[in-house]
Amino acid sequence: MQRFQFKKQLKPVLNWFQLFLTTVVELIYPPLCLLCQSRLQQEENCICQKCWDLIPKLFHPLVDINLPGKQKPAFSRAYAVWNFNPQIQQVIHLFKYSRFTQLAQPLAVYMVEVIRLDTDYEMADGLVPVPLHDTRERERGYNQSLLLCAEISKLTGIPVLSGNLKRTRPTETQTNLSALKRLYNVKDAFSVCKPDLLKGKNIILVDDVLTTGSTLNACARELKNAGVNKIYVLTTVRA
Ligand SMILES: [Zn+2]
Repeated sequence: MQRFQFKKQLKPVLNWFQLFLTTVVELIYPPLCLLCQSRLQQEENCICQKCWDLIPKLFHPLVDINLPGKQKPAFSRAYAVWNFNPQIQQVIHLFKYSRFTQLAQPLAVYMVEVIRLDTDYEMADGLVPVPLHDTRERERGYNQSLLLCAEISKLTGIPVLSGNLKRTRPTETQTNLSALKRLYNVKDAFSVCKPDLLKGKNIILVDDVLTTGSTLNACARELKNAGVNKIYVLTTVRA
């Protein structure tokens, strides 16, 4: 009991010390923009505003998605914030593979701008991240789509409905596969555990990158089978 109280008393001192240390470290090594290496302002996170402003944004529904194998889209609409370009590719690479998880916050800010533009997105009942297989998530330490959902939810109040849509088998990474191989690679790879929780809902399906759309469509089809009413896709980049 005494030990517990001692710990409790020590906590504010430790918090203060941590803040002091962070301030000293930031004075000696000020945080720099990951793209242009200029010094970041207090409110900037990983990337400076100038760099964000230089990356052209899309902000309109993607109308030219040709799903491989003549698949019909199971989703109603899809948006990507950015078209593929070297800067945004670098950002996504850092976010996905180099553990810069804090990039989820600024990326979500732009995804929310899309949500604000489209009433169907704004009125959606929930955000569903494209799941990773457990093994992949353990290797990476996080699911980047879930991190995006969590940040979007903080800004919009739309709840995150994660853990229901599952990836039931590990799939080969889509990066080096042809369009048709991508389709077969993700076929029957997803399932919904508790359809009752999603029935009749309108869902925003969130992923980091949209390439051929095969993964997103496989998820959307599974959600449709589970009784989801409408599925709206939202991604950061159209690759
Ligand atoms: Zn910059």
